[in-house]
Amino acid sequence: MKKTDQMRRSVLKGIAVTVCYCGAPQLLIAQEASKEAKVPKEQAKYQSSPNGEMRCGNCMHFLADTSTCRLVEGPVEESGYCTLWGSATK
Ligand code: SF4
Repeated sequence: MKKTDQMRRSVLKGIAVTVCYCGAPQLLIAQEASKEAKVPKEQAKYQSSPNGEMRCGNCMHFLADTSTCRLVEGPVEESGYCTLWGSATK
């Protein structure tokens, strides 16, 4: 193997290691930040029953495919409600 090939491989390995060490923690921090952005159920005064016509099922923050909420932590029920309820038609 030529000396230039060895140097090229060494440089490429160094770049790969740098990308792995620098990129992975930033990805984890971004994931944690998005998790932290959610509010605990107690803080949002979540309840498993609707408040009149207002319920998770017709809230703009409800994610039906996963029964989760964009704003509140953990799973939520379609018939649930919290004080962060929002309507997309406002
Ligand atoms: S914001 Fe409140 S009412 Fe709306 S989906 Fe989330 S938990 Fe349900």
